[in-house]
Amino acid sequence: MSSVSPRIPSKLLLVLCCLYACECLLSAESNLDYLKSMKKFDVHTHVRADESFVRDILAEDNWKYINVCVASRGTDSTLQQRQISRELYNRYPRYYAWVTTFDVEGMFEPGWIDSVLKELKMDFDNGAVGVKVWKNIGMEIQKPSGEYIQLDDPLFKPIWNLITQEGKTLLAHMGEPLHAWMPTYVTEDGIPRNYWATHPEYSFYDKPDKPSYSDIISATDTVIRENPNMRYVGAHLASLEFDVAELAMRMELYPNFAVEIGGRMRYLMWQARGKVQAFFIKYQDRIMYGTDLGAAPGMTDPERIERKARIKQRGLS
Ligand SMILES: [Zn+2]
Repeated sequence: MSSVSPRIPSKLLLVLCCLYACECLLSAESNLDYLKSMKKFDVHTHVRADESFVRDILAEDNWKYINVCVASRGTDSTLQQRQISRELYNRYPRYYAWVTTFDVEGMFEPGWIDSVLKELKMDFDNGAVGVKVWKNIGMEIQKPSGEYIQLDDPLFKPIWNLITQEGKTLLAHMGEPLHAWMPTYVTEDGIPRNYWATHPEYSFYDKPDKPSYSDIISATDTVIRENPNMRYVGAHLASLEFDVAELAMRMELYPNFAVEIGGRMRYLMWQARGKVQAFFIKYQDRIMYGTDLGAAPGMTDPERIERKARIKQRGLS
C-alpha cells in the first residue's frame, strides 16, 4: 500500500523528507537553547562538597539547587551536612538554597525535642528554607515498645508547629514505592534486577512484623491534613508513584500538598500518556523537578567527569 502521490518523484520525496527531518532537529536544538536560558530549580540535590564542576553546571545551564540534608547516617554525618549546606548557601546564594534536617539519634530520650527545635531555629535563621524527613521514620526507627514510629506520632508535633510558625516547608521522603511490598526481582541466573533485590532491608514483602504500605501513607496523610498551614512536599512523588490519580486526589484534598519527581520518572512513563499529561498541566504549580543528584566529599577526577555528564544529561534531556 502506497499513499505517495504518483506526481511526486521518489527522489524529490526523499529530499523533502530530509528537509523536514532537519527542520525538526533544528527546532529541538532551539528548544534546548531555550531550556538552557530559563532559570530552573532542582529541588532535590545533595551537594556535600564545594565542587567547582557543580557550580559550572549551574552557571552553564542556569540552575539553582536546593541542597537537601538527610539524617540517614548518624549524628556526625547530619552535622557535617548541615554545616556544608549552610556554607555553600552563604558563599554562593545564586547557586544554592538549603533544606536542613534533624538528628534522629536519641529520639526517645528526655531533652531530644528541645535540642532539635533549637537547632532547627538556628538553621532557619541561617537561611534554611525547609526541613527534610527520611524513610527511617516509618520504616526503621522503633519506639521502646517495639512499634515502628510513624510521621504522625505526637513526638514530632512541636517540629511541625515550628515549621508552620516560621513559614518553612517540610520535604518528606516517606516510605518506598509500592514495589517494596512486592517480591523482589532476581533473574534465573541470580542477577538482582530491582533496588530491593540489592537493598533487602527496605523490602517489606512477606514481612508481617514490618509496617504496611498503607500504615506509612496514612500517617503522612494525617500530618498533611492536621497541619494545613504547613507546606508539605512529598519527595519521590510522595511514594504514590504508581498512579497520578492518587496524587491528584491529595492535591484536591490538601492545598498545602505538593510533590517532587526525583527518581520516579519511569513510573510516570508506565501510566497512560494523556492521564499523566493532564495531571502535569492541571497541577503544574505543585509538581517540582528534582534529580536526587549532587556531589560527595573526596571525589576523584574521573568521578567528577562521570558525575558532571550524568547531571547534564539528566537535567536537560
Ligand atoms: Zn535524596
